Amino acid sequence: MQSKPNILLIYTGGTIGMMKDFETGALKAFNFKKLLQKIPELKQLDCNIETVSFEKPIDSSNMNPQKWVKIASIIEENYHAFDGFVVLHGSDTMSYSASALSFMLENLSKPVVFTGSQLPIGDLRTDAKENLITAIQIASLQQKGKPIIQEVGLYFEYKLYRGNRTTKINAEHFNAFTSPNYAPLAESGVHLTINPNAVLQKQSTKKLAVHKELDDNVVIVKMFPGISESVLSAIVAIPNLKGIVLETYGSGNAPTEDWFIQILKKAIKNGLHVVNVTQCSGGSVNMGQYETSTQLKKIGVISGKDITTEAAITKLMYLIGQNVAPTVFKTIFETSLRGEMI
Ligand code: ASP
Repeated sequence: MQSKPNILLIYTGGTIGMMKDFETGALKAFNFKKLLQKIPELKQLDCNIETVSFEKPIDSSNMNPQKWVKIASIIEENYHAFDGFVVLHGSDTMSYSASALSFMLENLSKPVVFTGSQLPIGDLRTDAKENLITAIQIASLQQKGKPIIQEVGLYFEYKLYRGNRTTKINAEHFNAFTSPNYAPLAESGVHLTINPNAVLQKQSTKKLAVHKELDDNVVIVKMFPGISESVLSAIVAIPNLKGIVLETYGSGNAPTEDWFIQILKKAIKNGLHVVNVTQCSGGSVNMGQYETSTQLKKIGVISGKDITTEAAITKLMYLIGQNVAPTVFKTIFETSLRGEMI
């Protein structure tokens, strides 16, 4: 007889485990043990669940690369003892964290499913129970003794997405996330339906490699009509800045004014990595399609293709942290490493 899958629940914080402070009325994190008391249903699941919690659970607005290392280390230390991992996380920065972890965990062959909720678990109308229970079920799914999901996912409101393809789009609706350029990996209805064409098929049997070096000398710059020369020059002059994610218009377009191109050209020559992503909520960068992106291509701007801003900034942190050689940096960035781009 096959034994039940072992699932590790990693609680980092977020609304899911928050309670109202009676004095201030603000939501703040509470003890994780209480979270489990709130969901006796967990005992009915066909898996063994163990839990580990951040000593001080956080609102995910306080998430940062050091805490990503903490999550990665928990997974690394428990990798062999567990068949799947569910990370409970605030929804505000969940897409950044899921993207970062996807890069940090190379050769992942087990599910790491991020989830959270818009309403606290104790709330009568909470979305937390469904999200948590189904996330655990997904992390437990196996075929011929092997996990079906072998990547970092994000489960919210009946859909499992590839984590590094997601973005938070709504602060009000339970349906808070979308994956604009990639189909869901699974959907929960009457049945839990996996999309076999969407899930990452593991090609190698290489051992898990956990990368903990992330360089935070990076910035996101969103283009807007009126962005000035003094603003852009001040940004590229930030001491030790190594990478910029440039959120451009449409299919990767930006002003053709000379000052704009010259500032970027000089910065790229001096070793700055500039990645072009679109500020549209779907679609892809295609430098050269319009005259307004031809110059960007010429001066060596990296194409982010259809990557999300969240995945682009964390991929930059990861690749700069890996000390990737300048000669191959652009090629590696433009290659899909974890299914984050076409
Ligand atoms: N502010 C919360 C957080 O991101 C929101 C949530 O959990 O949904 O931690």
